[in-house]
Amino acid sequence: PQPRASRRICSGINVSFEFFPPQTEEMERTLWNSIERLAPLAPEFVSVTYGAGGATRERTHATVARLAGETAIKPAAHLTCVGATCAEVDEIARAYWEIGVRHIVALRGDPPGGVVGRFHPHPGGYANSTALVTGLKRLADFEITVSAYPEGHPESASVDQDIDVLKAKIDAGATRAITQFFFENEVYFRFLDKVRDRGIEIPIIPGIVPVQNFRQTARFAERAGATVPGWLAERFEGLDDDPTTRRLIAATVAAEQVFDLVDAGIDHFHFYTMNRADLVYAICHLLGLRPTAETKVV
Ligand code: FAD
Repeated sequence: PQPRASRRICSGINVSFEFFPPQTEEMERTLWNSIERLAPLAPEFVSVTYGAGGATRERTHATVARLAGETAIKPAAHLTCVGATCAEVDEIARAYWEIGVRHIVALRGDPPGGVVGRFHPHPGGYANSTALVTGLKRLADFEITVSAYPEGHPESASVDQDIDVLKAKIDAGATRAITQFFFENEVYFRFLDKVRDRGIEIPIIPGIVPVQNFRQTARFAERAGATVPGWLAERFEGLDDDPTTRRLIAATVAAEQVFDLVDAGIDHFHFYTMNRADLVYAICHLLGLRPTAETKVV
């Protein structure tokens, strides 16, 4: 019998990594150590998230600018509709274009404080993610990635409604979607079937979250509307004070998930790194990725 795809050295696997802008000097060091470690794996792009406040927005810009200026990897800047007029958002996008950043992850965002269900567009701001994509494409020929929600966005009536929104974002110019994280691959496969049935052909890249810290991940999942299966909780049971075992379990869980996706023919993975390299590096190694000299951080 043929060995499972994941048991052979995988070829043609693409990865991308997501980071968040650091708030302190120590976090900044951790981030850049992680980038230095992961960059030689030649990610297709790395993306940097965007917050609600002015200071965090500056940090996103600074991180993206440094990636563009000092590394050979292609950065993607997240941008949202929250708390700014269209002109202000356009100004940020224009500044990215001027420093050579061509890829934007365009999102609606959440109100500051993260209260789901109460998004009100800023007066004079982009009304939703579709409007943002339209505005960005009008400004310049950015490569635009958007979000997708295999379990439905918490505010949506149904997954079908989200697929309508995804279709609208693609019609506005998005060429790739990254999913909210999920733990049951069946959820992703069902979503992918529905999306393809609607004639949507763009890559729908699974967002993978290695569980660095189970309690924290469970909190994120609750806010994001992602289900935490009972079996996952059981795997981390009793390990709150045992970080070493937790990390080994986390690597195993993520590897299982990713290999199951590889066996189903998925060949691009977007890792939510939480600015830490080790787990992601190990999973990429298992996927057959090896460091290449060209993509070292300069
Ligand atoms: P959208 O696709 O805009 O959908 C949000 C809701 O609005 C859905 O219920 C949808 O059905 C509805 N909707 C959208 N358009 C319409 C329309 N035209 N008519 C009616 N209903 C509509 N947040 C940040 O603040 N910063 C980040 O950097 C960030 N990065 C993210 C990266 C990824 C990969 C993902 C999956 C999420 C990220 N988020 C980020 C979170 C995201 O901003 C929130 O989940 C937000 O609530 C939704 O924004 P969206 O663009 O993902 O969703």
